Amino acid sequence: MVSVLRKLLCVGMVVLLSAQPADARVSHAKRIAITIDDAPSPSTPLFTGQQRALSIIDHLRKSDAPPIGVFAIGNHVVNFGTEQLKLYGLAGHAICNHTYSHRSLKNCSAEDYVRDIQKAEKLLKEMPGYAHLFRYPYLDEGYPAQTQKVNSALKDLGYTNARITINNCDYYMSHILQKERHAGKRIDYEKLRTVYLQVMLECVEYFDGWFDLQGKQSMNHVLLMHSNDLTALYIGDLVQALRDRGWTIISIHDAYKPVPEDFKNIPSKIVETNSANPARARNSPKGMSVRYLVELFRQEKVFVDVRPGETYTASN
Ligand SMILES: [Zn+2]
Repeated sequence: MVSVLRKLLCVGMVVLLSAQPADARVSHAKRIAITIDDAPSPSTPLFTGQQRALSIIDHLRKSDAPPIGVFAIGNHVVNFGTEQLKLYGLAGHAICNHTYSHRSLKNCSAEDYVRDIQKAEKLLKEMPGYAHLFRYPYLDEGYPAQTQKVNSALKDLGYTNARITINNCDYYMSHILQKERHAGKRIDYEKLRTVYLQVMLECVEYFDGWFDLQGKQSMNHVLLMHSNDLTALYIGDLVQALRDRGWTIISIHDAYKPVPEDFKNIPSKIVETNSANPARARNSPKGMSVRYLVELFRQEKVFVDVRPGETYTASN
């Protein structure tokens, strides 16, 4: 009887929800946590590793943004030093595990893979702000036999699998920036900012819409970014742009927790933070097409040839 009543109530609520205009629904949570992968990162002509970390931290502080997740690679710590990583921890952000070697599970036994996670943990656990959040390199967990063992070991080691819900190709945009800079082109920073924000927001909206279609409007989102110069330049602008579009930036510590009660009483909208990995979705936003990105940067004249006789020193 109780279950029949519950079913009727559910149907009634769904009908009620369907009858409302989309913008009157309170179910669309628009909460998003920020994560940065592959830290610490090497120096470039635009930023030393230390300057990059300081810039990201400073933008987040000025934006009054909650703690982000910084997913560190063990051998990057060895190669590029602990200092830039420590800065994040001291600023209140979470230092998280992204393995020691950043290898794909595809070519690795589960046992070796787990040893690699533990090797990273040894290096990272003394850092301020270390959190038991783990992210698969390349988001690559699609090998059922190994993945099951790794996920079980992660659980035993006290880790949460820190999946993302919003993918993008910020690393490829960063690659374009470094390539054009290396070729001696002048960077129009205002245009670079505009293009970067446009692409990132398109990706956020695409994946949000993807989950929306699956009835998961109430889930927390987790945005993937990388430790690169674009993040150092524009993370503050991105936070502002997201807020302007109605998003609330949430702490990485809240991202994988059940959502507040307000969002739980909608029976057809099941909350699944650990849902299917959108990186594996068949369709991708255009911002994840290399050809589209190259053409967009060209069309918008983000990088300009330096005229003969003109001296130009890239700076931020
Ligand atoms: Zn990575």
